Amino acid sequence: RAKQRGRNCYYPFLQEMADALYRKMTLRHHLSQALENHDFELYYQPIIDLNSQQLKGFEALIRWHDELLGQISPAEFIPLAEETGQIVPLGLWILHSACQQLANWNQRYAQQFIISINLSRAQLQPSIAQTIEQIIRQYNVNPSQLALEITESTMLQDYCETKPCLDALAAMGIELYLDDFGTGYSSLSQLHELPISTVKLDQSFVQGEHSSNKVIIEATKAICDKLNLKIVAEGVETQTQLDYINHCGFDYCQGYFFSRPLPVYELEETYFKAPIMSMAVQL
Ligand code: C2E
Ligand code: MG
Ligand code: MG
Ligand code: MG
Repeated sequence: RAKQRGRNCYYPFLQEMADALYRKMTLRHHLSQALENHDFELYYQPIIDLNSQQLKGFEALIRWHDELLGQISPAEFIPLAEETGQIVPLGLWILHSACQQLANWNQRYAQQFIISINLSRAQLQPSIAQTIEQIIRQYNVNPSQLALEITESTMLQDYCETKPCLDALAAMGIELYLDDFGTGYSSLSQLHELPISTVKLDQSFVQGEHSSNKVIIEATKAICDKLNLKIVAEGVETQTQLDYINHCGFDYCQGYFFSRPLPVYELEETYFKAPIMSMAVQL
């Protein structure tokens, strides 16, 4: 039976591996092209301040549309770009693009928004603070308008190497958010050592049905309170989830319930049409 499916199908497993490898090689090739052509776009997802019910800012999330391959998820191509080192030039493009967007909004609107940008491990090099300082200066953006999202595993991988980078960024007045909290290996005892201002609790806890998720949500909130850290709930999709997050006293929330990540024109249509200062969020 296997023979009928072709030469490579004696073991379906092998065929799968070959397909995955082929997909990877294709993506890798297209990715270098895309880097040259700047075929990327940043989408922005609102982060809501639950106390004031106002917009706190946006998370920048990269999108890649390839003419042949279609839309490719960052969950697929970011790890690939990390493997090949392409994340470094790509990350630079992301930083420039987001700061340019901030400068544009600063000129057009009274309110100063905050954009948070995801940072990969390879970007945490000794030169990162200087690089970002230059970009910020180039676009005349306030460092407090920029936040960097770094996952626990990224932050703690070779912590003696990453720590000076993190400290330098924090010293510049750039807030650091601990991304996907609860999914990595960081122990709670390390949390207080990190130069972070904010913890983003991973969406799996917010969406999880099991009662143990509630225990984790409440425990994380309690620790953040003790350590004076702000806390964001990621992936809030329903009113019930929002109510619970509110009940637990979370500072911020983000998720499809409020808005999906949007391209700039759609974001401006939706959120920037009203006079910005009175733009209360409908919750
Ligand atoms: P992340 O940083 O944890 O980003 C949150 C992801 O959750 C985003 O997926 C976002 O679209 C999605 N999300 C937000 N709200 C909801 C919700 O209510 N329900 C569900 N199911 N999902 C929600 P996205 O945009 O596909 O990005 C996936 C991951 O790729 C990101 O996870 C981040 O690790 C990475 N990534 C995205 N953009 C960048 C970037 O510019 N640079 C780097 N280094 N990584 C990026
Ligand atoms: Mg993130
Ligand atoms: Mg996250
Ligand atoms: Mg994630």
